Amino acid sequence: MEEILSQVSKIKREKLGTDVPLLIFRVLRHYTHFYASDLLGERGANILFINAGKALGDELGKVLYDEDLDKYLQNIASFVEKEKIGILKIVEKSDSKLVVQLDECITCAGMDNIGKRICHFEVGLVAGLVEKFLGRKVIAAETKCGANGEGVCEVTVSF
Ligand SMILES: [Zn+2]
Repeated sequence: MEEILSQVSKIKREKLGTDVPLLIFRVLRHYTHFYASDLLGERGANILFINAGKALGDELGKVLYDEDLDKYLQNIASFVEKEKIGILKIVEKSDSKLVVQLDECITCAGMDNIGKRICHFEVGLVAGLVEKFLGRKVIAAETKCGANGEGVCEVTVSF
């Protein structure tokens, strides 16, 4: 995974630069999920996206790490906003639970209600980041999603 991140980080596009329209990201993301579902079934595709998000969360957690949980979460929130993934808010934090919401989610904000929660990669990403901090496995689920008519993306992590 580390290798993937370092490989794709090397960008040489003198004329076009590093930014792409959000629609292009969404097209890649949603078409890939659609065809992964076709191949693996919807549950299989969801797990694939969750695991990919977890692997990235594990890598990113190393970069953003702080031994103080609040600072770690602040580093994550700053990164997420700077990279325009969304606007992260901590909704609940206890010894056994973390609930975060992502306003303006890169994947689903503004979509019509399609009757399901679809931000599996984000769920994995949050889980991976929390697992990095705790040093053990957690259970994470998407508990709200813009694509499910809930107005915001929300991930609940239990540990
Ligand atoms: Zn969502």
